[in-house]
Amino acid sequence: MSSKTKITVAYGDGIGPEIMNATLAILDAAGAQLEYDVIEIGEKVYLKGISSGMEPKAIDSLRANKVFLKSPITTPQGGGFKSLNVTTRKSFGLYANVRPCKAYAPFIKTHFPKTDLVIIRENEEDLYAGIEHRQTQEVYQCLKVISQPGSEKIIRYAFEYAKKYGRKKVTCMTKDNIMKLADGLFHKTFEEIAKEYPGIETDHKIIDIGTALIADRPEIFDVIVTLNLYGDIISDVAAQVTGSVGLGGSANVGAEVAMFEAIHGSAPDIAGKDMANPSGLLNGAIMMLVHIGQPEIAEKISNAWMKTLEDGIHTGDIYQEGLSTKKVGTQEFAQAVIARLGQVPSQMTPASFGKESTAPMDVALRPKPKAKKELIGVDMFLDWDQDNRDPNVLGSLLNKLDTGGLKLSLITNRGVKVFPDGMKETFCTDHWRCRFKVGEGEKLSHAQVIDLLQKAEKLGLDFIKTEHLYTFDGVKGFSLGQGE
Ligand code: NAD
Repeated sequence: MSSKTKITVAYGDGIGPEIMNATLAILDAAGAQLEYDVIEIGEKVYLKGISSGMEPKAIDSLRANKVFLKSPITTPQGGGFKSLNVTTRKSFGLYANVRPCKAYAPFIKTHFPKTDLVIIRENEEDLYAGIEHRQTQEVYQCLKVISQPGSEKIIRYAFEYAKKYGRKKVTCMTKDNIMKLADGLFHKTFEEIAKEYPGIETDHKIIDIGTALIADRPEIFDVIVTLNLYGDIISDVAAQVTGSVGLGGSANVGAEVAMFEAIHGSAPDIAGKDMANPSGLLNGAIMMLVHIGQPEIAEKISNAWMKTLEDGIHTGDIYQEGLSTKKVGTQEFAQAVIARLGQVPSQMTPASFGKESTAPMDVALRPKPKAKKELIGVDMFLDWDQDNRDPNVLGSLLNKLDTGGLKLSLITNRGVKVFPDGMKETFCTDHWRCRFKVGEGEKLSHAQVIDLLQKAEKLGLDFIKTEHLYTFDGVKGFSLGQGE
């Protein structure tokens, strides 16, 4: 083995220091070629008044080392503290969240002993972009932002991951029957990229039935790639059904920096008692060793760890009368793993990360031709709470506006058409989307939009935002209202 790789290490809060000590003891005993650059993050840093939970020198360490092994941290309640995980993911562009979910039956209880799937979740976009507004008395909005490069990056990552680790199938999960543009983009990108990987089976599931199938037949899945929110939810469902919530590790990978951790939190209820199971962080560290090109050490540790489980040496959280042989604390568990380094499990399939796991992954974005973008209309959103919220009153008011070539085509309330010819049963809030369009073949200018807003202001209308209606190479870049 060549020179040592320097990694950034954070001991975190709660059980963090105990499980990190156990993990590093195993890494060192296995001969991992590592040097540790220890930083402080989390509770103590938050309480110094640093709202991100991370000091500038910690950020410098990550930037220099590019590999981060992190124990869980405690996020203080309230007080405007920001999630350190979300900050790290976003500021270092850790776009891929990788979460293997594997059953270790019969040593860990599960109804699905054959489960061995990996969830690859988009980590930066979607409703997690954090763009929220209160627009009226009654209506709040959270923007779902999906980009083409964001989708392409994560989908390429999923296929490259499948290729590298010899996985056979990639399943995409979206809700594009409803969100035809945003989720539709993700699904379409998946279909396009799939063509570059003819050796890998592909599949698409609507997220609701996809989640139900993970809960009922997780063994049918191999690699799953999905959007941020769906990925967040299905990761926990998958971890739960494999019975291994406390054992799972995860990786957050970017073009430069990668962060490895356990999926569980800082467990303050058992902190300092030498009771915590260090397996989640150890599994994160195993993923890290593969990532930095030490797959044989990763394999050695993974096999010794499985052998320890098989021998019934269990921490309290996984201890089962009749199956376990000895209940141990955190450090004794680590010593049991160390004592088995060089051994392989006899009933579970031994780990094999193989040489191919060090092959580079080609996730480079491919150039896209620029589409011709034309403005053909505008949605003016209003806060309007007059005349018993009668859409016909608002419609005739807006029809009176002299807006040149722009014509009111419809008004919707929460996406449902209420003017013209709405149904009297439709419930209306104080939030109205008024769609204006130019005639067939005509184009709209920004000056006309400003003119429309000025006229609306003269009528005393409270416009809360506008969204422009564009076509791209003649294809509509906006959804139709229900009933349009
Ligand atoms: P938790 O995962 O810390 O604990 C949930 C339950 O699981 C507790 O009963 C705990 O004792 C048990 N548990 C967790 N890890 C265990 C282990 N390794 N061995 C044995 N038992 C274990 O979740 P929580 O209680 O909701 O959160 C506690 C704190 O952790 C919160 O401040 C939360 O914000 C933080 N958190 C941090 C991360 C992270 O840093 N990645 C993730 C989740 C939660």
